[in-house]
Amino acid sequence: MTQALSVKTGLTLNFSFYGLKYRQKNQWGELIKNHRGKIESLCKTIKESRSICVFTGAGISVPSGIPDFRSATGLYATEYGGFRPEEIISRSFFDKRPEVFYRFYEEKIIFRDAKPNDAHQLFAALEKAGKQVSVVTQNIDGLHEAAGNKNIVELHGSVHRNYCMECNTFYSLDELLKPGDLPRCPKDGALIKPDVVLYEESLDNEIINEALKALASAQLLFVVGTSLTVYPAASFVEYFRGKHRVLMNKSSTHFDGSADYVFNDDAAKVARELGQLLNLF
Ligand SMILES: [Zn+2]
Repeated sequence: MTQALSVKTGLTLNFSFYGLKYRQKNQWGELIKNHRGKIESLCKTIKESRSICVFTGAGISVPSGIPDFRSATGLYATEYGGFRPEEIISRSFFDKRPEVFYRFYEEKIIFRDAKPNDAHQLFAALEKAGKQVSVVTQNIDGLHEAAGNKNIVELHGSVHRNYCMECNTFYSLDELLKPGDLPRCPKDGALIKPDVVLYEESLDNEIINEALKALASAQLLFVVGTSLTVYPAASFVEYFRGKHRVLMNKSSTHFDGSADYVFNDDAAKVARELGQLLNLF
């Protein structure tokens, strides 16, 4: 039946491809035939959902020019004295060799000119349009905030917050990156540390609770730009209790089978189509 229909409509490629990836009928029992049909169907789902949780990872910021740290791993192995990136951005390394840490951090982790892309903008626009949107992100780039979302849980912190390790005074990114040697607190001369979770550091319990609350209370869940292979992403999405799941990630994930809508595509591109159809862009 499926095959016959796909031959008849000439959508063999789309059909078999998407057919494997998600249910072929939407929640209204309508058959989704192709990409456009899927976008239209998802727009209906969005319109009917009051609360939306968006769980994001590095992939959402790739179209903004921020490379996925994990896929970039290995590229710098020979630089920075032969230290691996994971080693450099660990807490013990920060304590021992802050000068190498900060050189790497400034050159490879901070992207000061990066702007939110259509995927960030879509979720900010939905919030502006009156949806209850909460963002749970693994990213530290601050792009959801820049796009205008108000309700954001930053699991791994943000490059925009930095604090004195002695007196806890907070400093902006500009203050952190002032030219000179190591960033030090003007009040007491102690080292300033980015408020980001380094390797060997654990996530803040309060933040975990906020994230789980956001996941558990939403009707619609978007998982964007994460392969859900690394803790905490994989276990967090299990807390979602709502009806519909959407997956937007370039490569397929183990989550695809349980999602109502799967887009193994560029998140910004899919978001643009959705935003246009919803008259948000
Ligand atoms: Zn201080």
